[in-house]
Amino acid sequence: MPELPEVEVVRRGLAEHAVGRVLEDVTVTHPRAVRRHVAGPADLSAQLTGLRIDAAHRRGKYLWLTFDEARSHRAGSDAPASAAAMDLALVVHLGMSGQMLVQPATAPVEKHAHIRATLDDGAELRFVDQRTFGGWSLAGLVEVDGSVVPDTVAHIARDPLDPRFDREAVVAAIRAKNTEIKRVLLDQTVVSGIGNIYADEALWRAGLHGTRIAASLTRPALRTLLDAVTAVMTEALAVGGTSFDALYVNVNGESGYFSRSLAAYGRENEPCDRCGALLIREQFMNRSSFSCPTCQRKPRRR
Ligand SMILES: [Zn+2]
Repeated sequence: MPELPEVEVVRRGLAEHAVGRVLEDVTVTHPRAVRRHVAGPADLSAQLTGLRIDAAHRRGKYLWLTFDEARSHRAGSDAPASAAAMDLALVVHLGMSGQMLVQPATAPVEKHAHIRATLDDGAELRFVDQRTFGGWSLAGLVEVDGSVVPDTVAHIARDPLDPRFDREAVVAAIRAKNTEIKRVLLDQTVVSGIGNIYADEALWRAGLHGTRIAASLTRPALRTLLDAVTAVMTEALAVGGTSFDALYVNVNGESGYFSRSLAAYGRENEPCDRCGALLIREQFMNRSSFSCPTCQRKPRRR
């Protein structure tokens, strides 16, 4: 799954190449890509056609577009701008392999292009998804804690790169959890944007084993951990995110380079950059966790 940096790379690309453009035509060629929109592909297409993209937003791993001056741009229509569309969000689920590409309309259509939207500058916004876990859906916008988000994202906590992220409040929320710290890091209602890769990287940087009980950790340790999360995500973002199999790409189809900088994730039996001990892989929550047996001591059995 793409995590915060990979999704932010896509958001920035959309902000640069799609914001300000009008969706002139939306074609769904694989209904599974809009299965979350229960009213169906034709309804999704009709609601989006004619809308001007106002902004590209992200919270944690969630990505959405908002619109302005609805309908007035629809070809051949003199309908006035509709307020309804300004309360509408197009939520993009990247799933395991979803890509948002902005391509010249003349570029060959990708094999797994499931949704294509013609933009008023002649380009196409394409949703390409090899494994078809992702898709587009429409949602209403709601105000939560001073921020406007899609109603389907209302329960998601702020992420560490959010200017209004409250580190002390999150430290307190983590300490209230009587469960493993890695499980808490992956809980998007406590702090969002973190998946398996950046959880392992942050835990390695902070010198904490993922099975330590959250409630047993000190405030300074948790501040260090959250700062490590922020740092590793910021560094990953600076190089375009982490791409393992060329599926996580920006809107131009380019991969990121952070996989070369990973200190723990995917490095079983390689030496720890800090102490030289061989990194280990363990199973946790049905996924692989990577850690250093020396720098990240496992808790004693309770
Ligand atoms: Zn080590």
